Amino acid sequence: MSAVLQSEDHIQTHLSEPVRGAAGHSVRPGAFGTAVALSCRACGARQALGAEFACLECFGPLEVAYDPAATVTRQQIEAGPHNIWRYQPLLPVPADVAALPGMEPGMTRLIRAHHLGRELGIDKLWVKDDSGNPTHSFKDRVVAVALAAARELGFTVLACPSTGNLANAVAAAAARAGIRSVVLIPQDLERPKVLTTAVYGGTLVAVDGTYDDVNRLATQIAAEHEDWAFVNVNVRPYYAEGSKTLGFEVAEQLGWRLPRQVVVPVASGSQLTKIDKGFGELVSHGLVDDTPYTMFGAQAAGCSPVAAAFQGGHDVVRPVRPDTIAKSLAIGNPADGPYVLDSVRRTGGAVESVTDDEIRDGIALLARTEGIFAETAGGVTVATLRKLIQAGRLDPDAETVIFNTGDGLKTLDAIAGQVGPTATISSSYDAFEAAGLG
Ligand SMILES: *Cc1c(COP(=O)(O)O)cnc(C)c1O
Ligand SMILES: [Zn+2]
Repeated sequence: MSAVLQSEDHIQTHLSEPVRGAAGHSVRPGAFGTAVALSCRACGARQALGAEFACLECFGPLEVAYDPAATVTRQQIEAGPHNIWRYQPLLPVPADVAALPGMEPGMTRLIRAHHLGRELGIDKLWVKDDSGNPTHSFKDRVVAVALAAARELGFTVLACPSTGNLANAVAAAAARAGIRSVVLIPQDLERPKVLTTAVYGGTLVAVDGTYDDVNRLATQIAAEHEDWAFVNVNVRPYYAEGSKTLGFEVAEQLGWRLPRQVVVPVASGSQLTKIDKGFGELVSHGLVDDTPYTMFGAQAAGCSPVAAAFQGGHDVVRPVRPDTIAKSLAIGNPADGPYVLDSVRRTGGAVESVTDDEIRDGIALLARTEGIFAETAGGVTVATLRKLIQAGRLDPDAETVIFNTGDGLKTLDAIAGQVGPTATISSSYDAFEAAGLG
């Protein structure tokens, strides 16, 4: 509480320019908690918090910077709500954010995966299962933070280009907040993801093109519609901060310490880089000890531009045209790709990719060993873990957390040809016996 009040003074003295909201909207004091500026990831230049996503100096991507003098304690966090807003002092959201209508994602289960670990020859393994969020993927986290910022900045419509899960999260959050949503998706998206977006009643536009085409269109629409917040385009700096909560929760659930290794699926790469940023912030606030950790990225072979750049030793990520069953990860031109490379190289990790067959096996393996039914992205992560262990890149004796980011019920087609009834019989006991199931 006092941390927030102190930092409000700090914000006022720190910023020379007023915060710029959508369409001339003015922003209330403390609207962004302990955040004080937007800072360019390319050149380091700072600018006022506002409805901006590109550096005014170099057009580089912006991220949120916080008051380094703000104090945050474990006690303060532990006394907070049982959702991501317990980390409010570490997010660009106001102190009263938990009182506003929203989806309350987060504090999903972190389960010790003994059976999966035994099968893969790794002892200390956990699965952070984000399929338990309100719309069944990790995207509820990023949308919750984007919605809070969009509201403070005076946007009136919540929008996005999406590979599927973001569509669900935006449409649901807008419904709950009582505002309009506009969601753009590639028209070849999995049917369950289309239906579970449309049901919330917003505007849903299926576009004839890849996600990268849809993303380009969204950027053009955002430029023309001043009061539309495209969560992952024009309010992306705020949106991205939501992924830090995955890192915060894992550390808190482990008893306030960092895991030694993590395996994270990569689409745009935002999630991986922000889990890394979250770990760093916990260390700088003294909330955990400064122990080393290694970041591993997981991609589908049919859309693996970051893995290819990593393996080729390149700094530039060359765009590809996606062709994989892991549609939620099918971003051919990932905005945060270079930052993923920085993160895995700095921490001694790697980015690996797996085939569609390995993805299906990964889904089945996680379900059979741990009772968790993951979507294709989770299959990518499990299969990548297996590959990293086999290649000797990931230490099987070190504590490892893998992230299941979405629910298998949304990607049923991926396993439809693979699993089914053990036997189909008539309703007589003789038939049961004859099937040899006893
Ligand atoms: C969006 C998404 C990701 C990856 O997110 P990025 O931050 O774009 O890398 C991972 N898993 C699932 C299920 C997703 O929907
Ligand atoms: Zn810059």
